[in-house]
Amino acid sequence: MTHKKAPPGWATSPSRSLRAGSGGTCLADLDAASTPGFSGGKSEAASLLETRGRYLNELQEMLYANAVSGQGRSVLLVLQGMDTAGKGGIIRHVLGLVNPEGIDHAPFGVPTAEERQHHFLWRTYKALPRLGHIGVFDRSHYEDVLVARVHRLVPEAVWETRYGEINDFERQLANQGTVIVKVAMFVSLAEQKNRLLARLRDPEKNWKYDRKDVEERLLWPHYQEAYQAILDRTSTDVAPWHVVPCDHKWYSRLAVAELLIDALEGMELAWPTPIYDVDEEIARVMRS
Ligand code: AMP
Ligand code: MG
Repeated sequence: MTHKKAPPGWATSPSRSLRAGSGGTCLADLDAASTPGFSGGKSEAASLLETRGRYLNELQEMLYANAVSGQGRSVLLVLQGMDTAGKGGIIRHVLGLVNPEGIDHAPFGVPTAEERQHHFLWRTYKALPRLGHIGVFDRSHYEDVLVARVHRLVPEAVWETRYGEINDFERQLANQGTVIVKVAMFVSLAEQKNRLLARLRDPEKNWKYDRKDVEERLLWPHYQEAYQAILDRTSTDVAPWHVVPCDHKWYSRLAVAELLIDALEGMELAWPTPIYDVDEEIARVMRS
């Protein structure tokens, strides 16, 4: 389904090389400072991102054009990662290259009182992207098997059944024409410390610091285990996980741009044929 040719500047396609392996991706072995498939540095990545961003924007416009003419499909980007992994940066620097009208952004925070009265997927359904749009889940339904599991917010018997429910839900979405791009973002403990300190030392970044982040940081091994479980149990053919090393923001941003481009190319979109006669309409406009 997806195109596997390496994009410009890459030795291997990130959609292939970052994909969570069916034989198992071991998070303990992941080097968050690595840049798999890309041998360039920061400046090459930044200029490539600009060019590829224009192409991504064009592809999204085609997705929208198809929805307008009734062939409605959509793309859903799921971003999961620990604090400071760079989810916000992906939204600003990658999705920011696309016409904002084409993006449906949905952040998932602590469930509200109303949300807690429903099944965990209730708010997920409500947040799905409109046809023709790229939806972005900034955190997602996976929090219900990550934070919920680590903090024992529900009994094990409950979170244990959620993996299957998530797989069924995503399969149903895919059958309805949504292309799902799941990105698990990994920053190293050492780099997370630097980023938290940077937020504290710069008064203009203080607002980004959350005292809770330190508590989560101390639970790192438990999160690691919970992340490993989602890779092992919810990376399916229709909705595979991609594991993105995030110590270098320039790498993770370019990689996610390429994952989105690959997903859109795989949809084999074309500009829709007008439902009117173009020459006739030119004549009408001229006469008017
Ligand atoms: P942030 O993304 O930094 O704005 O933080 C959102 C917070 O909401 C994180 O601490 C998440 O773990 C938390 N959160 C998101 N979804 C859930 C959930 N289903 N249950 C409990 N906490 C959640
Ligand atoms: Mg936060």
